[in-house]
Amino acid sequence: MNQSFEITDADASLIFDSRGSETIEVELWSEKTSARVAAPSGKSRGSNEAVPFPPRGVVEAVELFERELKRRLVGFDPVDQRGLDMVLKEVDGTSNFSRIGGNLSYAVSAAAALLAAKLTDTPLWKYISNLSGIKPSFPLPLGNVLGGGAHAAEGAPDIQEFLVFPAKPSTAEDAFRTNIEVHRRLGRVLIQSVGGYGGGKSDEGGYAPPIEDKTALKYVAEAARGLDVGLGLDVAASTLYNPQTKTYVYRNRGVQRTTREQFNFIQELVESYKLSYVEDPFEETDFESYSELCRAFPSLLVCGDDLVVTRKELVRKAAERRSVRAVILKPNQVGCITDTVEAAVEAERHGIVRVVSHRSGETCDAFLSHLAVGLGGRFIKAGVVGGERVAKANEILRIWRKHRSELAIKEVASA
Ligand code: PEP
Ligand code: MG
Repeated sequence: MNQSFEITDADASLIFDSRGSETIEVELWSEKTSARVAAPSGKSRGSNEAVPFPPRGVVEAVELFERELKRRLVGFDPVDQRGLDMVLKEVDGTSNFSRIGGNLSYAVSAAAALLAAKLTDTPLWKYISNLSGIKPSFPLPLGNVLGGGAHAAEGAPDIQEFLVFPAKPSTAEDAFRTNIEVHRRLGRVLIQSVGGYGGGKSDEGGYAPPIEDKTALKYVAEAARGLDVGLGLDVAASTLYNPQTKTYVYRNRGVQRTTREQFNFIQELVESYKLSYVEDPFEETDFESYSELCRAFPSLLVCGDDLVVTRKELVRKAAERRSVRAVILKPNQVGCITDTVEAAVEAERHGIVRVVSHRSGETCDAFLSHLAVGLGGRFIKAGVVGGERVAKANEILRIWRKHRSELAIKEVASA
């Protein structure tokens, strides 16, 4: 017989993220224990994402929590994740959490999962794996070593993220060490080579030198030389796209590209730098160009982030059109654990790789690490250095050390 539990108290509070912006954390109590989860914030958000905060920001989210949500949570069984997420949707009353904010709903939803895991004496990653029915796995770290676009100041590359991952690590420690080594080497190379650059960084802890995209890739490839490392990009192309002119505007370089020119540019980068992974190479409505890129490169991990925004129906659409081989899962894009799990299950059903991802504005919360393991993520994309980034790495290491016999390291051959 299933035991039942009860939330006995609930709290939501304003905290700060790694950019110094306001965000929210939620704590739920039961008689025996408590669970706290903080929500991160994105800067290059897809237009179909949950709205992160109500119009007056975190303060209004806390007010709404006190006024409308708290009494619905107290007395609720946190093990009933689907039921709890239904309550969040009902109280919000919109299709994208625009009234209470997706960050509040995510923090409540995740805190309930954490509380339920504690109460049922189940490791959180396993609890999530049980919710999803997906076999857990050790996710390879996909780390941002150089940043530009919306995550950096003017003059940095227009492409948002230059990424690396260890292709065949023998241990979990080695996996993270490899990315850290590339980051270290890259710092030395850039400071020596880029005149006047003192090592300034982007929001996610990657270097942000005043150089153009191809030069940035050249230095990243140089820093990775001799290591068994795959290279990737998050173009975050929706942030470059101007729907009026139908062009991609690389404003730091004064260059505009039509869709065809964008395709050719991405193709050239994939070929010249042997890229294994490309995220959001086209704007978020252009499924067809994604499909064309998949056809052009049969083993390239073409990944959708703004394209699918952790929504099951968009993951299905991308799968049916063969637009992607990987999808980003960011739980606050969709605002609750049930919907995140459904998006992951949809991806799994179509053989699509899950990349469980942080946001550019983060906290030291490590719920994400358990989500990545529990949703069978091939990758966790959580940066390389910085307290809020290594918090996720260190939690993966803790999981690995305690439960390694249950988690296989999957190899990802570099291209
Ligand atoms: C991303 O686009 O993958 C990303 C992490 O950006 P943000 O969190 O700023 O939306
Ligand atoms: Mg992205």
